[in-house]
Amino acid sequence: MVGSAINKIKGDYPAYRFVFFSSSEYDLSSLEETKSLFREVQPTMVIHLAACVGGLFKNMHNKVEMLEKNVMINFNVVRCCHEFDVEKLVACLSTCIFPDNTTYPINETMLHDGPPHTSNDAYAYAKRMLDIQCQAYRENYGSNFQCVIPTNIYGAHDNYHLEDAHVIPALIHKCYLAKKDGIPFVMRGSGKPLRQFIYAEDLAKLMMWSVEHNTDPILILSVPEDQEVSIEHVARLIAREFDYEHQLAFDESFSDGQFKKTADNSLLASKLKFDFVPIADGIKRSVAWFVENYATARK
Ligand code: GDP
Repeated sequence: MVGSAINKIKGDYPAYRFVFFSSSEYDLSSLEETKSLFREVQPTMVIHLAACVGGLFKNMHNKVEMLEKNVMINFNVVRCCHEFDVEKLVACLSTCIFPDNTTYPINETMLHDGPPHTSNDAYAYAKRMLDIQCQAYRENYGSNFQCVIPTNIYGAHDNYHLEDAHVIPALIHKCYLAKKDGIPFVMRGSGKPLRQFIYAEDLAKLMMWSVEHNTDPILILSVPEDQEVSIEHVARLIAREFDYEHQLAFDESFSDGQFKKTADNSLLASKLKFDFVPIADGIKRSVAWFVENYATARK
């Protein structure tokens, strides 16, 4: 999703030649395949977005895969960035890997201060190791390897899988089907948890800004704290787009996951003034994209 968003805006960066790859072309969990990719492309800069990702329920039910695949992918990519003399690496973490029992807002210094939430600990520890790996290369070799930490991302080209997806794409797909079949639109949990959502195209711009200008080894890329919203609010925005709000129902037998993970974006704000796409707009565009691309969307 983020790669597609960068692809969409790449014309705004004529100084670079962009090369994009998907997992169908190279399996980055194999060191050999990762080396062939680097040999073929000889990149000067790398934006590392590849990961085995999913929403709360995929994280809970596939811990071995979330841990092993991500550890292998990150190990291979960072190591190849070193072997092939990449000038700058910007690697993607996530705010869901921060400690569960913490104070808010969470900032860049707190990543390793306590265990993550049990629902996604396997994914979280794999991603935390990516930070440690980049730090080790910086310390031992002076590598310009940085990590950025986005909050929950959504937008066009997301994975809209009913079970494995993150909440926004999962609910867009569910509401689409519910309306088609004339049945209730059922969201999971209480709807009370809070999240900051970033629209993929905003993140694409911030990733490119990071490539060109950021010097901090670790940086949160998030909307401000006052743009944090409840899951119920998001579900209502989605239902409204489908004109189906009257059919919204809650299934509280499902987990709520982490209650919140409010991130502090003041480091980013101190460097850059950025107008984020408001959540209502982003959802409007994401619903429109999903409906238009229903046949081919990942789901
Ligand atoms: P998280 O932000 O890392 O926890 O991941 P998600 O994007 O999966 O969001 C999880 C939150 O959305 C939890 O509070 C869930 O209970 C709630 N939620 C409601 N309906 C759904 C759904 O259909 N799929 C997912 N993934 N989460 C849902």
